[in-house]
Amino acid sequence: MSDTPMQTDHATPSVVNNIDTPASIAAVPENDDVLVSSAASVGDWDGRWKHISKVLDRPGPFTEEGWTGGQETKDFLHACKILVIGAGGLGCEILKNLALSGFRDIHVIDMDTIDISNLNRQFLFRQADVGRPKATVAAEFVMKRVAGVNVTPFYGKIQDKDPDYYAQFQLVICGLDSIEARRWMNATLVGLVDEDSPESMKPLIDGGTEGFKGQARVILPTISSCYECSLDMFNKPTTFPICTIANTPRLPEHCIEWASVLEWPKVWGDVKYDTDNPEHITWLYNTALARAKQFNIQGVTYSLTQGVVKNIIPAIASTNAIIAGGLGLLEYGVCDRTTIFISLR
Ligand SMILES: [Zn+2]
Repeated sequence: MSDTPMQTDHATPSVVNNIDTPASIAAVPENDDVLVSSAASVGDWDGRWKHISKVLDRPGPFTEEGWTGGQETKDFLHACKILVIGAGGLGCEILKNLALSGFRDIHVIDMDTIDISNLNRQFLFRQADVGRPKATVAAEFVMKRVAGVNVTPFYGKIQDKDPDYYAQFQLVICGLDSIEARRWMNATLVGLVDEDSPESMKPLIDGGTEGFKGQARVILPTISSCYECSLDMFNKPTTFPICTIANTPRLPEHCIEWASVLEWPKVWGDVKYDTDNPEHITWLYNTALARAKQFNIQGVTYSLTQGVVKNIIPAIASTNAIIAGGLGLLEYGVCDRTTIFISLR
């Protein structure tokens, strides 16, 4: 992570595909020759958006009479300027989905650099990218893989940008892990709304994941309930009753809590344990393990000890993929509504 924000210019999108990436994220045309010849000029080829048409042109049970298919929505997708906030686990999925579902003018903000531990799920990054800004690398990767898509990265904080910057987008999608950042974004978008100018209302599509759980929802600033309205709905961090920890442990976590909350101060006094100090973690692990043996509890490991004392919730790639898929459906829903909205004006 760096405190120095940096605007990075991106290269012209290339149509050459990279071989070292999963085929599932490539926009694979029926015929590779078509990609090279026609995509070189317009970034499009015959049947390129067939998969989108399957979704947008199919009437559903609630389709109004006289509905003639989603051409307007498709045109809107191609023209829409969309902002993605966060290029991490969820952000990679969101960017991939947007690029493959017809969005062409994508902007992405992220203040982080790539860590080796990201690579198992943040699939737009490779080992050689470790240490580079996530936003920049994600933009380069998507443009290299998906013809005709422009991704503009910003390596920095959302707070570095002023309201005028946010006013240029039609849609904002958040894939953040910080509640503070979401609250800031929500407040900024609510603040942008001018009653006399319908375009000033920027729908915010918010996604979040935590282990196996996740959420995807739309906030229409000043129209629907906003982020601030629903802060109470968040999961509180898991805690265990002290009497269970002290007297009747049943889980390996209870033993670890016993070691860190009750035994550590007895033995170490005023010294606080440091969750990044391997000696401290080892001490907690051995103490918890002895406790677990005494109560015949299985499952105390070094990494669990570290996870419990650092309150680590493992990031799960499948959860990110599912939530990003949900966000994609919401994007389509919002775009559909937006185009109707625009056409009614
Ligand atoms: Zn509210």
